[in-house]
Amino acid sequence: MPKTENEKGFVDVVNGRYKPKGVFHILEANQPIFNKDTGKLVGITNPRDMTYIHSYGGEAPFFEGLGKGKLIASRCDNDKCNTKGSIYQPFRIYCPDCLRKNTIIDMTDLAKTTAKIHSYIITHRSGAFNSLPIPIKFINVEFEGVVTILMSVLAVGEPEIDKRVVPIFNTKAPTYTITDLRFVVEGTSESELPEGFTF
Ligand SMILES: [Zn+2]
Repeated sequence: MPKTENEKGFVDVVNGRYKPKGVFHILEANQPIFNKDTGKLVGITNPRDMTYIHSYGGEAPFFEGLGKGKLIASRCDNDKCNTKGSIYQPFRIYCPDCLRKNTIIDMTDLAKTTAKIHSYIITHRSGAFNSLPIPIKFINVEFEGVVTILMSVLAVGEPEIDKRVVPIFNTKAPTYTITDLRFVVEGTSESELPEGFTF
């Protein structure tokens, strides 16, 4: 059942501290489990409704960027690092080689012009809490000059290795989660995009 505003938890950061407001744990009535053959009790259900506070820390710029139609990556700019200039997507806060903090960069244009499918997998059965339409076309995306591969979802078109794809973003009602970013095959028109998504 959808929750009312009085049954939700909200969090702000004020003066550098988390300030929770509202309800974060909702108790629901449990139900007995009976064996229909014997009429005997065998157990109970255990409903739990909890709201987690998930801090993004140094990865927050990546998730904030998605809602603005931007694909944010990071790059090592340390002169003393053997892998200086490496671009990381998924976003890495620190360089894995020199452990220095990476520079935050905008790679939206690079993604629009060079993204292609490295490999893919189509799944017809999802786990709990899935919000994506089934079947889900998971794609591993490679970008020119990026040293890592990004896992995402192909929202429009059929996956094929080396096929060119372009990113789309949930800019109209961002959820600030990874599902705000998806891909479509090159040449897809704006009218084919899922609701709320733009190029
Ligand atoms: Zn480095």
